[in-house]
Amino acid sequence: MISRNSKKDNTVQFDFRQFWIKLWRLLVPAHGKIIKFVIFVVVLEISRMAGPYILKYIIDLITNFQAEKIGQMIGLIALMFVANQAVSIMNFFSDRRIFDILITVESYLSDISFKKLVFLDLGYHERENSGNKVYKIQKGITKIDEMISSFSWEVIPTSIQVVVTTVVLFFINWRFGVTILVFVPIFLWLSLIVNSTNYLTRKKRHDLQEDAAGFMAQSIVNINTVQSFVQEKRERKNFRGMMDRVFEMILWEYGRYMKYNLWRNLVIDLGRASMLLFSIYLVWNNSITVGSMIFVFTISEKALISLYRISRIYDKIMEAGESVVRVDDLFQEKEDIFNNPKGIRPKEMEGAIEFKQVDFSYRSSDIKALENVSFKITSGSVTALVGPSGGGKTTVARMVYRHYDPQEGQVFLDGKDLREYDLFSFRKFFAIVPQEVEIFNTSVRDNISYAKPSASMKEIVAAARIANAEEFILKLREGYDTVVGERGVKLSGGQRQRIGIARAVLANPRVLIFDEATSNLDSYSEKLIQEALDKIEKGRTVIIIAHRLSTIKKADKIIVLENGRVVEEGSHIELSREEKGLYHKLLELQRMGDVE
Ligand code: ADP
Repeated sequence: MISRNSKKDNTVQFDFRQFWIKLWRLLVPAHGKIIKFVIFVVVLEISRMAGPYILKYIIDLITNFQAEKIGQMIGLIALMFVANQAVSIMNFFSDRRIFDILITVESYLSDISFKKLVFLDLGYHERENSGNKVYKIQKGITKIDEMISSFSWEVIPTSIQVVVTTVVLFFINWRFGVTILVFVPIFLWLSLIVNSTNYLTRKKRHDLQEDAAGFMAQSIVNINTVQSFVQEKRERKNFRGMMDRVFEMILWEYGRYMKYNLWRNLVIDLGRASMLLFSIYLVWNNSITVGSMIFVFTISEKALISLYRISRIYDKIMEAGESVVRVDDLFQEKEDIFNNPKGIRPKEMEGAIEFKQVDFSYRSSDIKALENVSFKITSGSVTALVGPSGGGKTTVARMVYRHYDPQEGQVFLDGKDLREYDLFSFRKFFAIVPQEVEIFNTSVRDNISYAKPSASMKEIVAAARIANAEEFILKLREGYDTVVGERGVKLSGGQRQRIGIARAVLANPRVLIFDEATSNLDSYSEKLIQEALDKIEKGRTVIIIAHRLSTIKKADKIIVLENGRVVEEGSHIELSREEKGLYHKLLELQRMGDVE
């Protein structure tokens, strides 16, 4: 039911170098902004030192209190106020820069992902499960975004703060600098250990939580069965069992965190104590003033506390790791179908098609889907592709559309190789009515005018009439404005096909490809679709992947495909005379019914 083993553990071979390279590549439009941001943060972190530094002078004045220095002291307090305000304003700009980076990255990633997905050829989409892919990419973008926020708000400022603090401390006295250099790495090392070990458990816990969510969904989707067989208690028990394990893991994780925190606090406290000891020694020694001691303590304290903020960095990188790879893979994906940028952009088209010794096999398969296929379709004729399932009919139709290129041989359109055309220009002369017409979750009107959004209502109604679709559309509650598709009214197979025909009619193609439904339409729908086809066939090249005798009989030419080869070609009369032929056999088999 729910497979837990399917989730791969990617932590074993996490390649940090590749991760950074790929991430940097994904951040292309923000490169300049990121570099400017880092420089700005360096300035900001240096400026942050001003407040505590002025405080040092104030304290030094207090420790040697002299009444006549009051004015100077007030001046310093005012200066400190101004410095703090300046930092606050710089902070504001730094935050704005972060938002700017985040928005740039997020809009770029989602825009390019969408563009990539829409433009990638059909072959890619057939290989990949699209629903899954969209979900994973969206989740991936969110994860990358989260990581960048965490870097911009926590990791980068804290790291720079630690560096600036260390340098300043070295200037005051080398002992302070060395203390930071000793304790900070230990602290970071401890954080890394707890994070890397906890990461595995956390990942397992997330998988388990996903499983539990999946389990819950299964129970609810199949609620009829659950209740009919009185299994509610068992389902609940199983669910609780899974959730109990999740909670156990959470407790274990936090227990570990807390233990490590004891160690981390110990390190920080040792750091603090060393700082103080050195300070007292140096004050006693007259090497530094009390003011300097407080300055040292303030800035080192701030830096040490900030360190806690970056302790989840390992987590963030790991979580984003998978997403970075996934999104980068999509961005690097190359189209199988190369569009010639200087391709022919025809103004007119005859619609004559020729296949010349075409060989083709799908990437995922060793079998030839088409083998040495040659035929000619004259402009304005109706051609029926027939033959047993798996024969190659759909593949032929896809090649006419150039969803795939042949590995051997050529496909010609009006005497020119399809590859010589600009892909998008020649496809404008084509329309396809697939078996399962894809319906968008919008109104009937928008669905029909999909290929020609500028169509007037009059044109849409005319197309619907030709497609024999008007009759059912007017019966819908809101007629042409009724929302259909996923969240609207569900349409029957026959209705969908008629919408598909209306869509194709409006596109006014030179070449129409019609994939006849194999599933049983009621005879009334079938008749309406047949009539609609008769109306739109005139003056166009039509290719029908045909399953019904009535359609086939009317075709000018029949091409019989079996195992990827053209086994017969001719008119209905010619082919039915060939008693040993496949066509004849198919006719015999399903004399009165459909030809499969
Ligand atoms: P038909 O339309 O006549 O039923 P197809 O053109 O769909 O035949 O299929 C021809 C051959 O190509 C079959 O062997 C089929 O299994 C294979 N095939 C079709 N589509 C794909 C695909 N997307 N990936 C791999 N093999 C495919």
